[in-house]
Amino acid sequence: MDVWFSELQCSGLKITCKVLQTLHREMSPFQEIVVLDTEMFGRMLVLDGAIQATIADEFVYHEMLAHVPICSHPEPKDVLIIGGGDGGCAREVLRHQQIESVTQVEIDRRVVDVSRHFLPELACSFDDPRMSLYFEDGIAFVKDKEACYDVILVDAPDPVGMAAGLFSREFYESLHHALRADGIFAIQTESPFLNKELIGRIYGDVSAIFPIAGICLASVPTYPSGLWSFTLGSKKNDPAQGPAQTGSLTNQGLRYYSPEVHRSAFMLPPFVQCLLRKGDTPPPG
Ligand code: SAM
Repeated sequence: MDVWFSELQCSGLKITCKVLQTLHREMSPFQEIVVLDTEMFGRMLVLDGAIQATIADEFVYHEMLAHVPICSHPEPKDVLIIGGGDGGCAREVLRHQQIESVTQVEIDRRVVDVSRHFLPELACSFDDPRMSLYFEDGIAFVKDKEACYDVILVDAPDPVGMAAGLFSREFYESLHHALRADGIFAIQTESPFLNKELIGRIYGDVSAIFPIAGICLASVPTYPSGLWSFTLGSKKNDPAQGPAQTGSLTNQGLRYYSPEVHRSAFMLPPFVQCLLRKGDTPPPG
């Protein structure tokens, strides 16, 4: 008998994958953690019923979340990651030899433990000597930080429950304080097809706090609608102008990010541009 996993992506839409094996299931103090082996996407991390990462397509998300902001900064040294317990984001950040320290704040220790065991392709950098890993709420952690980081990456799940505050204006104000004078941050901001109001609201908040705000897009097949957005706030360098440097990325076997993809990811189709203009009515859907 075939076993299928379905994620309810929004009312009226599910993605369904054939499951070869359920490798792990537990309730942590924060959420349900499941690891599946699927026919189409290989191993898959699912938190509270929502797909977080799969072996087949995680590279798109993690390369774009990490390399677009890091390469937009001329001299990145100290990076903060909030969330990202699967380790894929840290793996990408640590490809950059010029990065001296990576501080990661993940609320749920069990996501890291489970990822180390079942997703070693992602969770392969936690023992790097440049890494410091804290198990705390990222919103509280960043509140009192002042000009400590060059780059902040918010590797957040969907904007509900304990992650809701990662999508608030107060949080982006905290990130602004925590960044140095030429600092830049990036956060995943869901699908332009399914989360129109969220994207417009976050872009408005980030534009009000940072002198430069931008949105870039990438294709992630297992995320709702397959088209994904990242919002960036920068104090000095405009990420839409393309990389200021690519450091040690050459010949590292990246599969999605390149300087050309970096630039083109900021070319937004008109329906997405429309989401960013205050007062414009988002197209129906
Ligand atoms: N790529 C993923 C996605 O968008 O589906 C996000 C992956 S990563 C696993 C998200 C992590 O954020 C989870 O491990 C979760 O425990 C963590 N998280 C949620 N809220 C948090 C908070 N307030 N502070 C720190 N980490 C948080």
